[in-house]
Amino acid sequence: MCKMMRGGDLIVLSGPSGVGKSTLVKKVRAFHPELEFSVSCTTRAMRPGEIDGKDYHFLDEEEFSRRSDSGAFLEEARIFRHRYGTLKSEVLERLRAGRSVLLDIDLQGAKQIRAVADADREIGAAAVFVMIVPPDLAALEKRLRERGSESDEQIALRLGAARRELAGFRTYDYLVVNDDLETAAADLDKILAVCRMRTAIVQGDPFV
Ligand code: ADP
Ligand code: 5GP
Repeated sequence: MCKMMRGGDLIVLSGPSGVGKSTLVKKVRAFHPELEFSVSCTTRAMRPGEIDGKDYHFLDEEEFSRRSDSGAFLEEARIFRHRYGTLKSEVLERLRAGRSVLLDIDLQGAKQIRAVADADREIGAAAVFVMIVPPDLAALEKRLRERGSESDEQIALRLGAARRELAGFRTYDYLVVNDDLETAAADLDKILAVCRMRTAIVQGDPFV
């Protein structure tokens, strides 16, 4: 009888703001309760309905800088005039314990995680990069406007950044088009299932 032990997956999910990442993550986590969400730190203001410690750790600039200086972040970036960062404490312990972690981060952050993965065998084996894209930029703008959480200035910044973010799609392993939400959620679900079948995450020598 073959007893297979598997390490955790590090799912790095990116895509332009408003493409539907949070919506998709909520949907797929219902099917993959084992997938743990890495709660990022940010200096941006809380949106209505967001919960501190669940959606983000909302910090002021001073506290963010203090954590950055102490080396607490696995990656960090300045996005739309605010700072965002992934805490090592949200990721490393879980991966070591064989648990899977999902990061919702931008292209700059994903590039930093790719560099970490290239240098570290354990993270390299765990990391999978997925980009979520909109069917077109008009649909993205409509979603951002309908979400109603950003000013016109912030929407313009996010649409400008969207083009740069989308241009980086080839640095990811998988692409999911979020046109119809149910189809996109099913596609992401398939990617997560395939990730569990990767040889890289099998631990030890189960066949000897
Ligand atoms: P992100 O986390 O990528 O910034 P959100 O998950 O907040 O994006 O989604 C932005 C808005 O788009 C939300 O109002 C959400 O309900 C809506 N949305 C998400 N996916 C779709 C879709 N496939 N079709 C239409 N609207 C969508
Ligand atoms: P929002 O303000 O809409 O929640 O997120 C804006 C952008 O920041 C999104 O592209 C999201 O993926 C990204 N983001 C959220 N947390 C992090 C993080 O910890 N690191 C990086 N690099 N990007 C993040």
